[in-house]
Amino acid sequence: PSSLSVLEDDEPGFLPFSTLASNSSYGYGGLERHRQRLPVFKYRTAILYLLETHATTIIVGETGSGKTTQIPQYLKEAGWADGGRVVVCTQPRRLAVQTVASRVAEEMDVKLGEEVGYTIRFEDLTKSAVTRIKFLTDGVLLREMMDDPLLSKYSVVMVDEAHERSLSTDMLLGLLKKIQRRRPELRLIISSATIEAKSIAAFFNQSKKKLPASRDFGPSREPAILSVEGRGYDVQIHFLEEPVSNYLQAAVSTVLDIHNQEPMGDVLVFLTGQDDIDAAVQMLTDEAQNLAAHRSGLLVLPLYAGLSRAEQELVFSPTPRGKRKVVIATNIAETSLTLEGMVYVVDSGFSKQRFYNPITDIESLVVAPISKASARQRAGRAGRVRPGKCFRLYTEEYFESEMPLEGIPEMQRSNLVSCVIQLKALGIDNILGFDWLASPSPEGMIRALEVLYSLGILDEDSKLTSPTGFQVAEMPLDPMLSRMIISGSQFGCSEEMIIIAAFLSLQSIWVIGRGTQKELDEAKQGFAVAEGDHITYLNVYKGFLLSGKSSQWCHKNLINYQAMKKVLEIREQLHKLVQRLGLVLKSCGQDTQVVRKAITSGFFAHACRLESSSHGGMYKTIRTSQEVYIHPSSVLFRVTPKWVVYHSLVSTDCQYMRNVIAVDSSWFTELAPHFFQI
Ligand code: ADP
Ligand code: MG
Repeated sequence: PSSLSVLEDDEPGFLPFSTLASNSSYGYGGLERHRQRLPVFKYRTAILYLLETHATTIIVGETGSGKTTQIPQYLKEAGWADGGRVVVCTQPRRLAVQTVASRVAEEMDVKLGEEVGYTIRFEDLTKSAVTRIKFLTDGVLLREMMDDPLLSKYSVVMVDEAHERSLSTDMLLGLLKKIQRRRPELRLIISSATIEAKSIAAFFNQSKKKLPASRDFGPSREPAILSVEGRGYDVQIHFLEEPVSNYLQAAVSTVLDIHNQEPMGDVLVFLTGQDDIDAAVQMLTDEAQNLAAHRSGLLVLPLYAGLSRAEQELVFSPTPRGKRKVVIATNIAETSLTLEGMVYVVDSGFSKQRFYNPITDIESLVVAPISKASARQRAGRAGRVRPGKCFRLYTEEYFESEMPLEGIPEMQRSNLVSCVIQLKALGIDNILGFDWLASPSPEGMIRALEVLYSLGILDEDSKLTSPTGFQVAEMPLDPMLSRMIISGSQFGCSEEMIIIAAFLSLQSIWVIGRGTQKELDEAKQGFAVAEGDHITYLNVYKGFLLSGKSSQWCHKNLINYQAMKKVLEIREQLHKLVQRLGLVLKSCGQDTQVVRKAITSGFFAHACRLESSSHGGMYKTIRTSQEVYIHPSSVLFRVTPKWVVYHSLVSTDCQYMRNVIAVDSSWFTELAPHFFQI
């Protein structure tokens, strides 16, 4: 078959899992050869040797060199998954967990969910008796520690993408260091795309307590570091002469310039999130239609978390002959996923980052400048298969003098509430004294303790309360959501709470991009109520059930059918969890007041008062008097009630509240007296 030739010559090995489900057209030999051509293959013996002789091995290698997909297979081949043991590999991102697991299953020619499986929150595709290689998010592994503190099922834990320094990765590294003292046979592999590895090596080298005199057998405690040489090609960097104010517009015109002036080759564009990516896809698709007469051939695809399976597969499929694929991605494509065949990179210079301010107690997702390290990674994506070009949508001067060298670890820019509960649940009482890779700020820690105390999750001695604190720790949700569900069970509306929690776990249930904004607003109006977004979701849910869970009904109402199926699934899981925790499951029928009260009992820290009702309403947070606005997507955008509680904030030019309910101010002192004393 012609597809085989793709592997024969030095073209990239396009091996999308979709087309390879049966593996027949390529044959095992083709994939096997592809595996042997990856840079890590040369180091296979060295990696296995280091693993035998060292408790911790740090592997640095460029994106695409085969760390994630190959090393777990080498471990299995070498027997680390024999005798009922399991090799486990963590990723900071859910989408990466799913794609790499599919890819590895395909390379091993096994069905995903059997020998190779994955677990992400609310989705477990493993079989405990069969699964030998398991991919999961670092957050899920942290949760598993609650039931199995020494992770005794696992022979090797590979913490992948450690350079990202996600909050969960940092916690995990601290905890794994502790576990290693109790389980000398446990092996750790820490892999990273950058030399961030050095600080991690130093961390594993130093120990707070003196270790027992090392025996003359057993693995060395000192971490080994191995650098895998990549085979990246040169990438020419182009900067802008003048800064631009609108990176979205600039990205779109740069792609069109590339398409008009440069030889064939796919384009990878880095934007920040679903909003700007969908907008860019739309603009480019429109442009491509205008060009159609004399110059067609643009295939524009988005890539961000929350895409359907089919959309994901398209991104990884080979580019049809004569076409130029343009993938517009978040920084998920920076190092977590390998997209083959990219020759041009367009780098906006921005990404969405979580920032938490302990003074205002506000955490929001902010579009912020990336670091030089990220910019280099992004550029590197253009040189995987042949020399490439990277177009940076900023000036050289800006790169040199304004961009920070490295990003700030998430630990130091996140709300620490979940982190504190998890460590407490693992029996770590002195949290400030924990062996941190990077210490969290004391202010952030104090805020977290304060919030947890007022939620009734910690007591005066900073211990988890029983049962509430322990129940919250068991729930794989934001602690405020968990608290809201527990209150729901006390107030007789837990059924409603878990439905709401399921909706809030998704980005959006509305179909974006199909209808006009006006049509979407009208569709929403069909369900909207003046009590707010959460109650509106309950109405959508009822409508969906009444329609017999019909996809036509969703289509008609501009609701995303896949998202609704996800809501059902998550609700089902939460249902089981709530039962397991011994909480009362009950519905309150039409009583929306009790629903809003239960929500408030979890989210009172997000209470705001109306200051001026022009422009969607300007509010101030009760606690710290920050100016916030109702997001235009909220059903309360034009209603502007006096008192509201929001679910989350997004910041662009100002702070917007997303998912808002109207509340009664008397509830605050009733439900959270400690918090509102002053
Ligand atoms: P690393 O973890 O070092 O960044 P990976 O193990 O993810 O590298 O990828 C190694 C190689 O495997 C890639 O260069 C690519 O050729 C191939 N590959 C990985 N994932 C996929 C996929 N989903 N579809 C097609 N090829 C893939
Ligand atoms: Mg990887």
